[in-house]
Amino acid sequence: MILPGLEKPKGSRIPILNARTNTVEDVDPVTKTDDEWRAQLTPEQFDVARKKGTEYAFSGKYHATKEPGIYRCVCCGTDLFDAVTKFDSGTGWPSFSAPVSGLNIELVPDRSGGLSRTEVLCARCGAHLGHVFDDGPLPTGKRYCMNSASLVFENS
Ligand SMILES: [Zn+2]
Repeated sequence: MILPGLEKPKGSRIPILNARTNTVEDVDPVTKTDDEWRAQLTPEQFDVARKKGTEYAFSGKYHATKEPGIYRCVCCGTDLFDAVTKFDSGTGWPSFSAPVSGLNIELVPDRSGGLSRTEVLCARCGAHLGHVFDDGPLPTGKRYCMNSASLVFENS
């Protein structure tokens, strides 16, 4: 018996949009130990995606990328952003006006560093992706300011 208010049973699946087939699929959340993530990621990817680091502006490999394709989570491969929503924000970080689906990301208040921001996480594995701001282009008005280190680009 599952009592209301208790944590969801381990293994409960979450809905994630597959951007290639444009279908929502129920998938298992991805949880790994720091040692397992370290074995899979580069030191920079680990620092940014698992420890909420921030890459230096203009240092990442995707801040100027313009090719069509999908940006996926470096940790678990979840589709996150379509290149059609990418725009040149001038900030030196890859910037998008919308995720492929609100299902695929999680937004949490972030008051670290004396700032009031909204952190963007991968909904499937909890990877830190970056922050979202309200100064993006219309129609969404959002600027998803991401770290290249948390993303893997796949040409379409
Ligand atoms: Zn992920």
